Amino acid sequence: MRNTGIIHLVGAGPGDPDLLTLRAARLIAAADVIVHDGLVSDDILDFAHRDATLISVAKRRSHHSMAQDEINALLVREARAGRMVVRLKGGDPLVFGRGGEEAEAARAAGVAVEIVPGISAANGAAAAAQIALTHRDASSAVSFVAGQCKGLAEQDWAGLAGKGRTLVIYMGVKTAPQIAEKLMADGLAPDMPIAVIENATRSAMRVLRGPLAALPDLVERERVVSPALIVIGEVTAREDATLAQLAQETAR
Ligand code: SAH
Repeated sequence: MRNTGIIHLVGAGPGDPDLLTLRAARLIAAADVIVHDGLVSDDILDFAHRDATLISVAKRRSHHSMAQDEINALLVREARAGRMVVRLKGGDPLVFGRGGEEAEAARAAGVAVEIVPGISAANGAAAAAQIALTHRDASSAVSFVAGQCKGLAEQDWAGLAGKGRTLVIYMGVKTAPQIAEKLMADGLAPDMPIAVIENATRSAMRVLRGPLAALPDLVERERVVSPALIVIGEVTAREDATLAQLAQETAR
């Protein structure tokens, strides 16, 4: 496990430490240096060796505490100095995690990289909220998109959401009104069921449901904060449907 001079890009999963892979837990415990972002919870950082150096490069939507180039340079410098470097990211490193950019930078500098997958927020949230991302009766395709402001209008989501499909939107809390508008302009029904899953797999998790047209109000009224995912599709209403059916049957 002591593998120095290499950068380990490690997925930390959606928050619950029980959802770390064994390999992630072992690497975190063995690392000399852990460079982590804001999504990695303290419960997970507690696995670090007490002599390890923890460096936060937390990114917030409005301000970046460390530019990507600086992060790349930091990782390369530490690995070259012979330290065992773990770059720890929320979810999976290769899903909206800039893991690709960091791996490219390491390769360009001639430093070896290992990538350890993590449970992405979509998978963690779906399991925790008991929403099937695909279902033989309701959805045969699932897509992951980023909903942050930059370029949202230019992104082509046509065909990704609608009947028989599930769309999972990362980083979409701030832009919920534009997202709802965009999807309805693409032809989605205003009553298409949606769910917002905030703090998935963590103790503060909330699952909110409603029709697409009410998404902006839901986010505002319930003061939804990041990290949260928006899931669009009939699969988000199945649990409600089952519960309603059960209630009816019990009442009979
Ligand atoms: N690499 C990460 C995604 C990073 S982008 C992954 O694979 O999950 C950051 C976005 O991920 C957040 O804005 C939010 O939309 C989502 N996210 C991460 N953790 C989450 C959680 N515990 N609950 C809900 N959404 C989460």
